[in-house]
Amino acid sequence: MQRVVVVGSGLAGTHAAMALRRQGYEGELVLVGAEEHQPYDRPPLSKAVLLGNQDDTSLTFSLDELRIELRPNVHATGLRSGVVETSVGDLAYDGLVLATGSEPVRLPGTGGRYLRTKTDALSLRASLREGAQVVVVGAGWIGAEVATAAAKHGCQVTVLELAATPVAHALPAEIASHFVPWYAAAGVELRTNCAVAEVGPDGVSLVDGSSLEADVVVVGVGVRPAAGWLEGSPIPVDRGVLVGADLATGVEGVYAVGDLVARWSPRYGERIRGEHWDDALRSPAVAAANLLGGAEEYDPVPYVWSEQFGRMIQFAGNLGPESKGKLVWRGDPATGEGWSAFWLDSRSCVAAVLAVDQPRDFVQGRRLAEGSVPLDVDKLADPAVMVKATVAEFQRD
Ligand SMILES: Cc1cc2nc3c(=O)[nH]c(=O)nc-3n(C[C@H](O)[C@H](O)[C@H](O)COP(=O)(O)OP(=O)(O)OC[C@H]3O[C@@H](n4cnc5c(N)ncnc54)[C@H](O)[C@@H]3O)c2cc1C
Repeated sequence: MQRVVVVGSGLAGTHAAMALRRQGYEGELVLVGAEEHQPYDRPPLSKAVLLGNQDDTSLTFSLDELRIELRPNVHATGLRSGVVETSVGDLAYDGLVLATGSEPVRLPGTGGRYLRTKTDALSLRASLREGAQVVVVGAGWIGAEVATAAAKHGCQVTVLELAATPVAHALPAEIASHFVPWYAAAGVELRTNCAVAEVGPDGVSLVDGSSLEADVVVVGVGVRPAAGWLEGSPIPVDRGVLVGADLATGVEGVYAVGDLVARWSPRYGERIRGEHWDDALRSPAVAAANLLGGAEEYDPVPYVWSEQFGRMIQFAGNLGPESKGKLVWRGDPATGEGWSAFWLDSRSCVAAVLAVDQPRDFVQGRRLAEGSVPLDVDKLADPAVMVKATVAEFQRD
């Protein structure tokens, strides 16, 4: 291969380019990115950056050393065989990695801020002045982090959530209902079962006909894959670029990684939309290996974390709004101390784990989830017993 093009200079695209070099690719390597910035990391944007503790989240690596030619401010606009069409002309490729990530779902109306880029984060931070009325639409991962920062800055914060509990897209109500008291404790008003109809410049109108004024409205109601530019191309797209566990698109020499993809998971027998940092970090090495002739699979247990209201939340698994399997609690959420919850499948293996300020439970639980190891349920229910010590006797022999 003489020229590999990577489209999208976020975490996944940048790591794909780095992995190609590290795995021995010697040809021309072009990284095309729509943003003006050098590649940077997004999770701190809604945490340390919004809180005012950090400005720069640049990824640390050397473009020159790795001989990666970054082309910022360039939009890919289309794709045909062997050619990426861009805002500055055609770019021929022998190998291609698609990594254009995702973009926020927009609500009707002309107002509202969305938090995706470094520019969004710095501009939002400047608006979070003491006493400002802030409405956050959506109590998902991002909405809760924005509410945390806004409350810290002394804003009057109201969070409007369509579902009955926070993070309803990822966690069942029996778990997420324990997140509700965190809002009031931080001085944030959480209104659940609340449907926003439109976002205007000075507030939001609700479906019930009422409205809410605000100095700042931040919308965090999910993301969708940034795949519009692939319309009319041979790349299969259905709520994400469709790839197998090898991250191949089915079009020769074209792989896709990170938030953009809906990957086939042999582990779950279904398609998984990533949308989390861990996928963007780890999937590119597999795509790079396969583009260079390898035969690797990417099929981990999905992992996400969030830092909200002074707590570290970590979740690994694939649940959705429904609880799957037997739920085992470790610790009592009502005490304010750390706790965790495990979902076990019919073989008593970890299907999913959620931990709140309980990193040790999480690390051990996640490892066991990856390995499908049966646990002793009674021991697991005792938080004094280490999770790894609950592996059923016959497995340890
Ligand atoms: C504020 C924030 C906080 C987050 N916090 C967490 C967290 O705590 N935990 C967690 O697990 N995940 C978190 N995430 C999610 C995580 O950051 C993403 O999963 C990850 O960044 C995805 O990386 P990516 O490279 O696939 O996509 P992106 O980061 O979206 O990068 C894609 C890049 O492609 C560019 N692009 C798009 N279209 C085109 C085009 N047509 N041509 C050229 N370039 C294009 C975009 O401008 C962008 O730079 C957070 C995300 C945000 C926004």
